[in-house]
Parts: sequence; structure tokens; C-alpha cells
Amino acid sequence: MSPIELKEELYKFIAPTYPDIQIEIIDTPDNIRSLYFTDEQFKLLYPKQRYHLLIHLIPNDFFEQHLAHTTWFELAPNENPDELDYHDQETIAEIKASILAILRNKVSFLSLLDKKFNDGTSKCFGDFRLAKQILTNLKFSIEDQFDIFHVLMDEGGYCDCEILLNVFKESEYAKKYWSK
Ligand SMILES: [Zn+2]
Repeated sequence: MSPIELKEELYKFIAPTYPDIQIEIIDTPDNIRSLYFTDEQFKLLYPKQRYHLLIHLIPNDFFEQHLAHTTWFELAPNENPDELDYHDQETIAEIKASILAILRNKVSFLSLLDKKFNDGTSKCFGDFRLAKQILTNLKFSIEDQFDIFHVLMDEGGYCDCEILLNVFKESEYAKKYWSK
């Protein structure tokens, strides 16, 4: 599929959810196809979260046929691809157990987030704004938060509600939700 055709197909999948997204496709001389997705809504999200959101809009078989060996860059406006920061699996594996234990016990991040959802004062915005606010109040640094959210994403928590529903299934919110 040519870059132009592929771009057109991708817009069909993605534009209903991200109407203002800009997609660029560039084939490098060594035959690697790079895809650049830029959207204002990505500003508050980690690159890994952005990727997760995009990938769910694209049917599996289309991905396997046309996108399997491509490199992706998910950008907010004016961001540079070199600035994108991820944790690799090895790092996540090293820090995961201690981070989850801290969130569960010591500072009761979990109870604070759980409370926000249960007393009906907050809803999920599809990002980490509630969790970030709690962690910031608990004096976790930006670097700590980067570690924490990469562990949570690795456990299936890509937004505030998914932290409770997928990571901390013992939370009141999750118990209520899954028993529905
Ligand atoms: Zn959510």
C-alpha cells in the first residue's frame, strides 16, 4: 500500500475519534516506514498511552497486513520525536512489585483514587489527571510518576478508571463494576 493510500485508510479508522489528528507517513531509504500521529489531545498523555488509544481504533487484521513492521511516533503539537520517552519492559519488571506495594499500602494512593470514583464526585477523562493530582499531592516527583504510570499501563491501566478496574481489582469501584 502506498503512503497516500495507507494514510487515507488510517484516517477512516482514527478520525471519528480524533477529528483533528494529523497523520504523516514517511518511508526511509533503508525501507522502514515511519508513521507520525499528531494531536492536541495527546498533550496530557504519555506516548505509551497515546499508542494504546490509537492501536485500539485499528482492526487487528488491517494492522497485521499493513502496519506490522512500521515505526510509530505519537506526538502532541510541537513535540519532537526525539523527546518521546518510554520505559522498556526490563525496567518495568524491575520496579513493578515495589511500586504496586507502595500504591496499595503506605500512602493509600489506591484508597484516595477509589474514593473519588465511589463518592461520585469524579469521572474518568480517559487520561491520568485524577491519579496525577493524587500523586502530586502525595509529593511523588514527575520522575516517580513516570515510573508509576508505566507500571500501571503495563498492568492494563491506561486511564484513571482502568487503574481501578484492571490493576487494583480489590478496589471498591472495581468490585462494584465487575459485579454488575
Ligand atoms: Zn478511564
